[in-house]
Amino acid sequence: MIPAAFDYVAPSSVEEALAALAQYGDEAKIIAGGQSLLPVLRMRLNAPEWIIDLRKIESLRGIRDDGDAIVIGAMTPHSVVGSDPLVQEHAALISKAVGHLADAQIRHRGTFGGALAHADPAGDLGAPVLCLGAEFVIAGSGGTRTVAADDFFIDLFETAIGDDEILTEVRIPKHTGWGAHYEKMVRVAHQWPIVSVAATVRMDGGTIAEARVGFANMGSTALRARGVEEAIAGQPASEDAVRTAAARAAEGTNPPSDLNGDAEYKNHVVGVLTRRALLAAAGS
Ligand SMILES: Cc1cc2nc3c(=O)[nH]c(=O)nc-3n(C[C@H](O)[C@H](O)[C@H](O)COP(=O)(O)OP(=O)(O)OC[C@H]3O[C@@H](n4cnc5c(N)ncnc54)[C@H](O)[C@@H]3O)c2cc1C
Repeated sequence: MIPAAFDYVAPSSVEEALAALAQYGDEAKIIAGGQSLLPVLRMRLNAPEWIIDLRKIESLRGIRDDGDAIVIGAMTPHSVVGSDPLVQEHAALISKAVGHLADAQIRHRGTFGGALAHADPAGDLGAPVLCLGAEFVIAGSGGTRTVAADDFFIDLFETAIGDDEILTEVRIPKHTGWGAHYEKMVRVAHQWPIVSVAATVRMDGGTIAEARVGFANMGSTALRARGVEEAIAGQPASEDAVRTAAARAAEGTNPPSDLNGDAEYKNHVVGVLTRRALLAAAGS
């Protein structure tokens, strides 16, 4: 289908983009890589009068070292994030998850910020940014504010970004030396997960000193598996200890029942994937 007609503007700075948002208000929609928005427009689920394209804003692209964190510009394509040496060294969980995200074409066009702003609970990036305690830098007419990952995802396709605001960058605290693994269950290759599990661990010899575990598609937002994290901290990276901790995976989840399986099935799957992800992240 062809989208409804719209007017188009491509500002060259964040300030200009914010001014356009303020001018066109509810009639405007931001476009980043267009990989989620264009299908929405083509299905006429949304028909904005103005499209504000961020692609000419160079300051929104790139990845930099910022001391104890790395900073990923919102308009950085998935393909760049996935292969970036800083991300691989300090936020390996993100590299691993991006490797599972869609196909090469979509990874080339789609952006890190666009995927997170879209807030699809089945998106592959939500769980990793929760696990790594990311901070979201959001610009508005009143200046810039920072939102912690725990407060960013509000509900299905809803984030802390206001209608008159733009996500500019995401700060990821360095997790240098942490083991990481991403387990994704799909029926069709290169698609969103039925369930996926992100796990990253800080090892101390053969012991899992600290673990972060997150899920996609197990509720209306990406989730942290606090029960699992608590149960595995300080335990050996053994099959038995990990199995016991993974038994808590379904705590606090609310997966949708759909054609891929009912909630009970997904609660079983998430336990299995959690066990695999933790063992792999721990290098066992
Ligand atoms: C066939 C297909 C398969 C896919 N498979 C997967 C998959 O397996 N896993 C996965 O995670 N994703 C998947 N995706 C989605 C993909 O990751 C998209 O790239 C991503 O969801 C959106 O990024 P984008 O840059 O294209 O954003 P856009 O589509 O341009 O925008 C998405 C939304 O975010 C808003 N937005 C974008 N940037 C900003 C910003 N800086 N500030 C404020 N709001 C902003 C837009 O207004 C829009 O509402 C798939 C997409 C397709 C088409």
